[in-house]
Amino acid sequence: MTKETIGYLALGSNQGDRESHLENAIVKLEEETDISIVKASSIYETDPVGVTDQPAFLNMVVKFETSLDPVKLLKVTQKVEQMGGRVGKGTWGPRTIDLDILLLNDENIQLETLQVPHPRMLERGFVLLPLKEVEPHLRLNAGRSIDEYINQLTDKEGVRKWKSSFGGEGFARFES
Ligand code: ADP
Ligand code: MG
Repeated sequence: MTKETIGYLALGSNQGDRESHLENAIVKLEEETDISIVKASSIYETDPVGVTDQPAFLNMVVKFETSLDPVKLLKVTQKVEQMGGRVGKGTWGPRTIDLDILLLNDENIQLETLQVPHPRMLERGFVLLPLKEVEPHLRLNAGRSIDEYINQLTDKEGVRKWKSSFGGEGFARFES
């Protein structure tokens, strides 16, 4: 089946072995026949936003192709979160693995359970910096460049490159 939708997913973890949680989530996504990972960003370390009394996050972005419709894709990402040991759903709270769907082609989805583009992505340095790495010429909203949004960020200092390519055997093909 052709995978006609191109999308971007943000991954984050701030509990336990954070890098393993990211890696395991990508392995699980790759195991889905209807999803192919195309490219992965470096891993960034990020000071927590909102609830600041919690460990720092590791964050990254992957580009993928899928033949799944958006709601089925969300079900898969939630399944992967649960397999990764995520418990609770307190927004901004600690989590072993968080998977946020950022963009799906140029679709605009406003369901109770799913909003795409992700409503908070444009304010988040830990999303935009890795997203720029996988798609440097991306245009958002009314055709504005990703650089314009990055220039407006106020939390950039809290986002540091932590590992410049995604390590581990089997991931070399995702290296940027
Ligand atoms: P955040 O990632 O903003 O900290 P949570 O991960 O705790 O928030 O939020 C989970 C809820 O967000 C899920 O119940 C899911 O239905 C909803 N949601 C809405 N839009 C999206 C999206 N684009 N990607 C992932 N989850 C989404
Ligand atoms: Mg989430």
